[in-house]
Amino acid sequence: MIRDYVYEFSSKNEPVKRVKKGEIVTFKTLDCFSNQITTEEQLITGIDFNRVNPATGPVYVEDAKAGDVLVVDILKIDVEQAGIASTLPETGPLIHRTGELRTKVLPIKDGNIVFNDIEFPINPMIGVIGVAPKEGEVPCGFPGAHGGNMDCNKIVANSRVYFPVSVPGALFQLGDLHASMGDGEISGTGVEIGGEVKVKLDVIEDFQLEWPVLETEDMWYVIASDDNIELALRYACEQMQSLINRAYGWDMTDAYIYMSIRGSFEICQACKPSGFPAVVRFGVPKIEEKPGLISSKA
Ligand code: CA
Ligand code: ZN
Repeated sequence: MIRDYVYEFSSKNEPVKRVKKGEIVTFKTLDCFSNQITTEEQLITGIDFNRVNPATGPVYVEDAKAGDVLVVDILKIDVEQAGIASTLPETGPLIHRTGELRTKVLPIKDGNIVFNDIEFPINPMIGVIGVAPKEGEVPCGFPGAHGGNMDCNKIVANSRVYFPVSVPGALFQLGDLHASMGDGEISGTGVEIGGEVKVKLDVIEDFQLEWPVLETEDMWYVIASDDNIELALRYACEQMQSLINRAYGWDMTDAYIYMSIRGSFEICQACKPSGFPAVVRFGVPKIEEKPGLISSKA
């Protein structure tokens, strides 16, 4: 089990473990506040912000090189017994009328989150997951082409995420589990929680990919981000169009029309106003008679 934490995605991060293609790895994760908040009396403004958004890793995957794709099968996500949700200063579409800072400790009972006088089922997901970027250091609180803080509530057990590899070994890391998070994550947090994640890491050689791709039981998604949500949508669509063109043999215009009549534009994170970029996903259903959008043969 890996228990080493970093606060940015960077080619300079020292790998804490080396694995071969196909190996299974378990990560112990802290919540996005590095477990600094344990009671409702503690406000978000009271914590050490140098320790927010830790990720566990990185793991060096042998044989992964720039131009490859890292394939991450999420095998299992276990979360702890209680999570934290809060409002954040100057964050989100309701902060102008709900300016109060509030911390809520949300217990988990028999697979349900207890919120005030109701309970609802957990949906454990991974907020921060990715590989080292091509250049520079990206704090774990930010998303990008390398992955990072994508806050996509469909990155759950039994899903598979594909990342473009930019540096030798990929340098894979993850953290920031949520026991539940709504699309948009409008107040700036999900049910922030620590836990354990088991993944299988594999490599597809020489496959051109610009943005992370998520494969669920029945959908393909591209996840893209930008400060400008229109640009984020454009990046996700461009990547999806190229993948459809390559995998299905349809030209770019047919791919565009197909995406318009069958695709799905969804929001991962949109807690504007705030300093966080918007994260979106563009999805299309899987097609039985067609190959996957990403495969080693392409
Ligand atoms: Ca997050
Ligand atoms: Zn989080």
